[in-house]
Amino acid sequence: MIENSLDAHSTNIQITVKNGGLKLLQIQDNGTGIRKDDFAIVCERFTTSKLREFDDLQNIATYGFRGEALASISHIAHLTIVSKTCNELCAYKAHFVDGKLQGAPLPTAGNQGTIVTVEDLFFNMSVRKKALRSPAEEYQKISEVVGKYAIHNSKVGFGLRKSNENNDIRTPPDSTCVENIRIVYSNTIARELVDFELENDILKFKARGYMTNVNYSSKKFTFLLFINNRLVDCNNLKKCIDQVYATYLPKNSHPFVYLSLELDPVSVDVNVHPTKHEVHFLNEDQIVEAVCGALETRLLKSNN
Ligand code: ADP
Ligand code: MG
Repeated sequence: MIENSLDAHSTNIQITVKNGGLKLLQIQDNGTGIRKDDFAIVCERFTTSKLREFDDLQNIATYGFRGEALASISHIAHLTIVSKTCNELCAYKAHFVDGKLQGAPLPTAGNQGTIVTVEDLFFNMSVRKKALRSPAEEYQKISEVVGKYAIHNSKVGFGLRKSNENNDIRTPPDSTCVENIRIVYSNTIARELVDFELENDILKFKARGYMTNVNYSSKKFTFLLFINNRLVDCNNLKKCIDQVYATYLPKNSHPFVYLSLELDPVSVDVNVHPTKHEVHFLNEDQIVEAVCGALETRLLKSNN
């Protein structure tokens, strides 16, 4: 849902959570909104506004493209959407059940943008519900995801709060990456960051980000990886970066690394896993090696 808000060019995204998201998960944005006429289909499976031509599949610039998120949610939770585009005079509100709009969207007060409200997650699937961890742990996971997106999208303001409480995360719009790392993680990390940037014409990729220098170490390796703006995991890369640091940090200590990789979209397979977390790409080993080599050089330079 955060990705939907980003796709809609939002500059402010506020997330509200009750009971670890099980009771309530609400995302409010100030993006382009959903047209009243589109309410009838937004939650239908495979409905997406993000692919116009077949070729777009090879060149995915938006996060979404499968039209499955809202459809899936409407099958396993109570889903309400309030939305207003710049061309409509008022907002419209509607409920969805099993992919279908219930009744006609009703006019309501609201600013431009969209509020997606998900209530009673897995109310109809007790087995799935039992598989979830405690509300506190679920909230922790939500908080990690929101924090990472806030760092990667520092021009967009993010807020995360438990309902009836103050924000746990609040990053202003038009912030910087380092400022958001400070807000989301700590002053200590933000103070010890070095930036890096690299471009490799042969392997056709760009990398940029921030990593802690050798003065910082932690028991836990915090690794934020975005590939073509998607939050993903790549264990191969993570391990190699940790190895680079192992030479310079005390035993069993790890760094903080935020890395944004831009690869040719054609060479990234975003379809490996339904949640799109695990990404594979062409020339993975060479790219990992090139990135790690550059990080080590940068680390040594910052140390002198
Ligand atoms: P996908 O993102 O793959 O297109 P989703 O199920 O996530 O599929 O969303 C379906 C459609 O609903 C999107 O293509 C978009 O047109 C619309 N939509 C969803 N969330 C938002 C939002 N926050 N702002 C504007 N439009 C949205
Ligand atoms: Mg989507």
